Amino acid sequence: MTKTKGVTVKKSENFSEWYTQICGETGAQLVDLRYDVQGFIVHRPWSMRVFRKIYQFFEEEVEKDNHEPMLFPTVIPEEHLMKEKEHAGFTPEVFWIEYAGEKKLEKRLALRPTGETQIYPLYHYWIRSYNDLPLKGYQSRITTFRNEMTTRPFLRGREFMFFETHDVFASHEEAVAQIRTDLEIMKKVIRDKLKIPFLFLQRPKWDVFKGADETFTSDSILPDGKRIQVSSTHDLGHNFAKAFDVQFVGKDGKKYYAFQTCFGPGIWRIFGTMIAIHGDDQGLMLPFCVAPLQIVIVPITFAKDKEKSDKVLKVCEKLEKELKEKYTVLLDLSDRSPGFKFNEWEMKGVPIRLEVGPRDLDNDQVTVGLRTSQEKLNVKLKDLNKKIPELAEQNDKVLEETAVRYFKNNVKDAKNLEEIKNIIKTHKGFVRIPLCSVQNDGKPCADKLKSETQGVDVCGFLFEKEEKASGNCAVCGKKATKIVYAAKSV
Ligand SMILES: [Zn+2]
Repeated sequence: MTKTKGVTVKKSENFSEWYTQICGETGAQLVDLRYDVQGFIVHRPWSMRVFRKIYQFFEEEVEKDNHEPMLFPTVIPEEHLMKEKEHAGFTPEVFWIEYAGEKKLEKRLALRPTGETQIYPLYHYWIRSYNDLPLKGYQSRITTFRNEMTTRPFLRGREFMFFETHDVFASHEEAVAQIRTDLEIMKKVIRDKLKIPFLFLQRPKWDVFKGADETFTSDSILPDGKRIQVSSTHDLGHNFAKAFDVQFVGKDGKKYYAFQTCFGPGIWRIFGTMIAIHGDDQGLMLPFCVAPLQIVIVPITFAKDKEKSDKVLKVCEKLEKELKEKYTVLLDLSDRSPGFKFNEWEMKGVPIRLEVGPRDLDNDQVTVGLRTSQEKLNVKLKDLNKKIPELAEQNDKVLEETAVRYFKNNVKDAKNLEEIKNIIKTHKGFVRIPLCSVQNDGKPCADKLKSETQGVDVCGFLFEKEEKASGNCAVCGKKATKIVYAAKSV
């Protein structure tokens, strides 16, 4: 058996190298980095198939929540980008278009670093009265550009996949209700479907999005223990409404500024996190609902016995035809050894492998290989159709249980700096600590924590339920007001 694919390092020993290999040519071939512009990558079919599913899940959820699709141009006039003064802080990360052919443009154009300044100048025109509210729009299957200095496939790039909602309300209560809905959407898609555990945190005041009043994020933990942000929702208050004059006439005939929120599940990072959390040393492991191929059929034939081999192929073709009605299925007829095929489909994370050989036929059965548990079982041909949903569920259950166990083991309590320092010597993920304040007066404590722990950041506090802080701030010793989660970040 020739083994051309495979990762040469263990995920537990060198996550970073493991991840690079999994994404690349000798791994699952998710990206091609040979495009020759640093930080810009080519997405290969195996990743695109998964991305399409993830996009579809979010599109379905936000449309259930009455969002309408829209698409704005990729370029933003400079004056729009600069209009909200906090938000203008984005400029160091912006790519600019300055020429068209040989001609210098009168006004240079930004490649969108985010959507607010694309969209809100038009919301100004679209919204007239309270009857136009709430206005809920979304952009899907788009990309965003930022001049990042270090890049990694699906985690940080100069052009990356994006999805965003931009909502406008008459009252702040409705805006807050939307933030709760955004959290529910994250639960439905990334926790329930993709099996990625996360905390939904409200960021401390000193760490909100440029131009927002409050920022809420979904944070997960990568296998190297680093926190990764996989979504953000911003409570924009009136900031952009004032900058772009988004006003409405209320029932009383008076003009009011609108309240705005925006929600961006990080499509790229969700994908990267899913690869990182679920994969193993043999390759990808994927939830059944996003696997580009859910079932692969591998015929075991022998050149010496043509009659039996023909029979095997016939049964395989019949199986493929039947299963294709409900699942994505491939009958692998390539001229490679079964061992090679097993490795290949394991690397690509196909959840269910069906092997059919002469001995299986003698027993009216197929041999089923499960990617997640590495189990092999025999299933009677007549029972196979009924059995697939059960096997799919089993696949997902293993992924979910493993991911949840890892996440839970990596959230630890600490009461003071000494404890934090001790914990981070061996522990990955979040440290849960009492802090004096999450307003700006708490920032000196966060800064001290970061400098004394080589980079542990205060990420935020739980949004869904208030966690009562008792005792004193882990850093300064004053009375604590919040329980916060801190971690080193990607
Ligand atoms: Zn403090």
